[in-house]
Amino acid sequence: MQEKKKKVFTGNFGVPVHDDQNTMTAGSPGPALLQDVHLVEKLAHFDRERIPERVVHAKGAGAGGFFEVTDDVTEYTKAKFLSELGKRTEVFARFSTVGGEKGSSDAERDPRGFAVKFYTEEGNYDFVGNNTPVFFIRDPLKFPDFIHTQKRDPATNLKNQDMFWDFLSLTAESIHQVTILFSDRGTPKSYRYMNGYSGHTFMWYNERGECFWVKIHFQTEQGIQNFTREEARRMCGEDPDHATGDLYKAIARGEYPAWRVYIQVMTPEEVEKYRFDSFDVTKVWPHGDAPLKPVGRMVLDRNPENYFAEVEQAAFSPGNLVPGMAPSPDKMLQGRIFSYPDAHRHRLGPNYHLLPVNSAKGVKVSNYQRDGFMRCDGNAGSHPNYYPNTFDGPNPYPEPAYPALKVSGKTRRYRYSHPNDDFAQPRELYGRVMSEESRSRLIGNIVDHLGRAKQRIQLRQTALFYRVDPDYGSRVARGLSLDLEEVRGLAEMTQEERVKKTSQ
Ligand code: NDP
Repeated sequence: MQEKKKKVFTGNFGVPVHDDQNTMTAGSPGPALLQDVHLVEKLAHFDRERIPERVVHAKGAGAGGFFEVTDDVTEYTKAKFLSELGKRTEVFARFSTVGGEKGSSDAERDPRGFAVKFYTEEGNYDFVGNNTPVFFIRDPLKFPDFIHTQKRDPATNLKNQDMFWDFLSLTAESIHQVTILFSDRGTPKSYRYMNGYSGHTFMWYNERGECFWVKIHFQTEQGIQNFTREEARRMCGEDPDHATGDLYKAIARGEYPAWRVYIQVMTPEEVEKYRFDSFDVTKVWPHGDAPLKPVGRMVLDRNPENYFAEVEQAAFSPGNLVPGMAPSPDKMLQGRIFSYPDAHRHRLGPNYHLLPVNSAKGVKVSNYQRDGFMRCDGNAGSHPNYYPNTFDGPNPYPEPAYPALKVSGKTRRYRYSHPNDDFAQPRELYGRVMSEESRSRLIGNIVDHLGRAKQRIQLRQTALFYRVDPDYGSRVARGLSLDLEEVRGLAEMTQEERVKKTSQ
């Protein structure tokens, strides 16, 4: 019988390692010798194992799988991966919490990131959404401040409810997302039981160059399931990694989670006269205005073999769009299109696109970018590194990138002035969509959290709940033992007056 050949243990440059248990020393016990290159290499590499943590979405879990087209959407987009019924495209998905650090609990009340990379034959398309259809703010200039308030107090390094609610109560457009965050959907039972939403509106365009505005929805086939506040709190203690484990174990058992993918579509004419600002990420498009149209189905059927290689190094950007898709003028989207790749360059280096999980699979990447840290392919060999050239280098695609969008106006920092109302959609959610049981859990969740902020901040925030619905505001006020007359008075003021009245 042939003996199985043993694998040789080598250093990083292939030289055999003779002993991995005993440091080389001068005599015994030591001192240790600098010439023990194996020890030096091993410790030095270990010292550099951690890369910068993502500033948001640090804690996550991921899996591979496929997307399959189930319905014809060629009327709306010329994207090749959506061009034929039954066509499959490989995907890699990453789900995450937002505010917590890499070691934080999966069950915290927080939006969940929902990112999917599609390795298409026209390059990578990244869907970079959340499990909520709206966001807290509509201007990227506010984003770093908003995130600071969700993280830790600069002095104590503790979570601080004053920071959290001070900012939100000064930012009235957040009320829709705050209502969703404090509803049952703020604590999904695991990543398998939640939907994903693009939030932003995108442009899709077809072969004829006709364009449409589109929002994208991933609806879980497992059904929506959430924890109550008490269940989530218990899970934070008992198994802080439960959602990471749930995704991994389900796939390992062969129970592959799946999502149905839909779009909502509006024509440019419809958007022009729409009662809401169609590019405002604090608003949904009500289903009655733009019904869901089916597109396809995503199935996750492959666990990563190595967490760091695939999940930690995965890098998504809402700007990674393929022909047939383009950005909208949503300012938050525009800010993210800069900020995501910039964060990846900081975290992973300028050549992060060469990491296997991030590199395009369906197409050969060919351009004139060269060098930089960790250039780990052939760096385009001897091919020309400038354009234009007469040495057979790659040439730009002959068609324009996407249909031109007409814009006009003067450059200025425009104060948001669309007449739409920040309270109308959360009013629908609170008053019509939620059951009485959901409403009472929502109130309980808010009272529990807001109750730890200063009273003047509680008053300012409760006035916003009152603006949504007097029942909503009154119940929060009662839960916090606030003076209802004072809340009502604040609710009737303008935001400027309310802020003045509730500042220290
Ligand atoms: P519909 O009356 O057609 O349906 C209500 C939708 O609300 C459901 O389809 C479900 O979305 C979602 N929903 C149910 N419970 C909750 C909850 N506790 N927290 C958050 N969302 C919940 O809705 P409309 O389109 O007329 O919108 C009414 C309100 O519903 C909106 O103002 C918005 O707050 C909320 N909503 C709307 C969505 C949209 O894209 N139109 C998406 C999600 C919420 P789903 O089917 O996506 O699970």
